[in-house]
Amino acid sequence: MAVHLHHEDLPAGVLAPGPVAVDTETLGLVTPRDRLCLVQIADGRGDEHLIKFGAGSDYAAPNLKAVLGDAARIKLFHFARFDLAALHHYLGVWATPVFCTKIASKLTRTYTDRHGLKDLVRELLGKEISKQQQSSDWGAETLSEAQQEYAASDVRYLHGMHEILVARLEREGRSSIAEASFAYLPTRARLDLAGWADKDIFSHE
Ligand code: MN
Repeated sequence: MAVHLHHEDLPAGVLAPGPVAVDTETLGLVTPRDRLCLVQIADGRGDEHLIKFGAGSDYAAPNLKAVLGDAARIKLFHFARFDLAALHHYLGVWATPVFCTKIASKLTRTYTDRHGLKDLVRELLGKEISKQQQSSDWGAETLSEAQQEYAASDVRYLHGMHEILVARLEREGRSSIAEASFAYLPTRARLDLAGWADKDIFSHE
């Protein structure tokens, strides 16, 4: 169980086959303005890989793109909408097929409105994660130990939650609507990037 920091790409062959947990850290919430600084990826066996992109990066990253674009691997995200847009904008790849733990939580945990990663990890797995480093400078030349640990913890529990949420969706007969919602996410991300981020195009208004 270790956190591995890499620069500009994921080394080849470090991930076991199967679903991968993915998260991103950026300089802010406006994707075209706020650059992609870090991609975190884990295969669920206990190690987390952090790929740091420097200012002025060309985002070539062929190994990372191959994993993200691999149609045979499910990509697990928490709030995939944001990460898909950032990954597509900077790396030019759609990280699909997707399973989003936030959407799965909203479709099953209808007894609460707490769908943040911290709350979900606590309820489903009984683990505590810190969100203290969330709003830190991810563009810094050197990431602190606390930043690296925070970034790794964002992908550490997605496999465990995926398993539980798949069972919950199944139990409540909502697997199909979840799958259709996940499949729509690249379109939602495209709308965000194209200027409809704050608009619900399905709403009457
Ligand atoms: Mn994160």
